[in-house]
Amino acid sequence: MSQDCIFCRIVRGEIPCRKVYEDDEILAFHDIKPAAPVHFLIIPKVHVETLYDSDLKYQQVLGRMLGMAGQLAREQGLTDGFRTIINCGRVGRQEVYHLHMHVLGGPDPLRGGLISP
Ligand code: AMP
Ligand code: ZN
Repeated sequence: MSQDCIFCRIVRGEIPCRKVYEDDEILAFHDIKPAAPVHFLIIPKVHVETLYDSDLKYQQVLGRMLGMAGQLAREQGLTDGFRTIINCGRVGRQEVYHLHMHVLGGPDPLRGGLISP
């Protein structure tokens, strides 16, 4: 846990979110600035800054994030596939330094169906 990390604060319930799913290891919630009709984030509850900082110690929770993505996407009405993105570090244009996976989907007429946050 990091005191100042915004996603840790969401995990602790100090900042509200529009929750999609929660269990003891992961949390999923809608992105505050959606880049697609459906855009939510899946995060580990444990504070891991980036994919760089991750290692096999986090194998289980990272697997859980991937393993739940399809079910959560279906529950959010994504019937035609979706896009997942994990931005990493400065080059990856990561803004929030608590590892998270974007799940984006739904029709996007502006980009001809291609979605990028
Ligand atoms: P990234 O560039 O991959 O670090 O993306 C961070 C994402 O977190 C952005 O899409 C933001 O809109 C989103 N975000 C930031 N603060 C919040 C918040 N309080 N609740 C939900 N999403 C947030
Ligand atoms: Zn954090």
